[in-house]
Amino acid sequence: MNNLGPDDRYEPGPLVSKFLDHADELGIKVCMWTTMNNTHPWTFGRLPAGMPFRHGEPELLLQPGESVKGADTPNFLRNSRGNCIANKSFSDWLIRINHEGMDEGKYQAWAVDGDFFGTGGWYTSVIPVDCMSDQHDHLPGDSNYASQQALRYLIAIILRIKPA
Ligand SMILES: [Zn+2]
Repeated sequence: MNNLGPDDRYEPGPLVSKFLDHADELGIKVCMWTTMNNTHPWTFGRLPAGMPFRHGEPELLLQPGESVKGADTPNFLRNSRGNCIANKSFSDWLIRINHEGMDEGKYQAWAVDGDFFGTGGWYTSVIPVDCMSDQHDHLPGDSNYASQQALRYLIAIILRIKPA
């Protein structure tokens, strides 16, 4: 999925389609399990690491400020590279990709993983998400609230397609 461009449509590849068809034959329900801003954020130090969506477009990345770069920040968090979900042009694209995936009708559930930094899931009240970009849909600096609202919107759109 990290090779999808701005106008590409999400379609399961041949192996994913084969898996989905086989699961359907067996009556197994499959969950579309996406991430917010990094395609495989949980592979640090093991398998080839994931990368942000639309990785050829650095303007879509979170631009970490001092709170993320600080000495007390774990390395995996400091070195993470994720898209800024509080950037509407990116979050609109992410919503469309997820919408297309769910519209295929082959996924019976949906889940989202990761965090606003681009790692596999780092939860903290000590290190705020601060994105310093002045090109995104938040003021430069603390982007926690804008990121949370973007995530809530993504979830709301998916719930319209597939109510809980
Ligand atoms: Zn941002």
